[in-house]
Amino acid sequence: MRKLAAGNWKMNGTAAALAEVSALAQAHPAPRCDVLLCPPATLIARMADLAKGTAIKVGGQDCHAKSSGAHTGDISAEMLVDSGASHVILGHSERRTDHGETDAQVLAKAEAALKAGLTAIICIGETEAERDAGRTLDVVGTQLHGSVPAHATAANLVIAYEPVWAIGTGRTPTLSEIAEVHAFLRTRLTARIGSAAADVPLLYGGSVKPSNATEIFAVPHVDGALVGGASLKAADFGAIVAALSAA
Ligand code: PEP
Repeated sequence: MRKLAAGNWKMNGTAAALAEVSALAQAHPAPRCDVLLCPPATLIARMADLAKGTAIKVGGQDCHAKSSGAHTGDISAEMLVDSGASHVILGHSERRTDHGETDAQVLAKAEAALKAGLTAIICIGETEAERDAGRTLDVVGTQLHGSVPAHATAANLVIAYEPVWAIGTGRTPTLSEIAEVHAFLRTRLTARIGSAAADVPLLYGGSVKPSNATEIFAVPHVDGALVGGASLKAADFGAIVAALSAA
């Protein structure tokens, strides 16, 4: 399976930040993994133009379940494709928390994304209280079952395991905790979509940085990373791309 280093810029970046994309492309012309940046919607088309002919792919951070209509402020999967996106992040914990997104809504968005030809990166992960209560596997298993389309394939699905308490905090689970969840997800994904699950990239996300990327990428069933803060600077994200290329 081709591994994936995906960057989530969240609500960060104006035109000036596109210089980071050029720097990343120059420093890593032929990485041995897929490289994806998901900027704010305002930058997708410009970033996609800039990334043409490079190894960098561009994605959105959310999409609506409908293809068009009276949904002020929303963006459809078709619009993302039209802007040059190949992927879309769905069900990020910040969407689940800030916008109350449920598994059913994430599933509907994922169905729309696949229909439009996008690869859906579906995010799941437990809160700190859920981990402390010993409910991690129960929570991620339920989210996986509820938000992944049963007809998804290895060509259009990526799963990102992102413990909510590790996002943007500098804290990470132990390597054995990551290993336990990823092995569990591989098994559960097989129950959901069948044998295609073996080739679906399972990303870890939550405070991945150049200093911890290599050890995280050595964990079984970790096929890449979804990176927030460290994806904003070409030097940091490039170091993570290099670590994944070497894994
Ligand atoms: C994220 O936003 O998906 C994320 C993992 O953020 P960070 O790398 O900053 O923890």
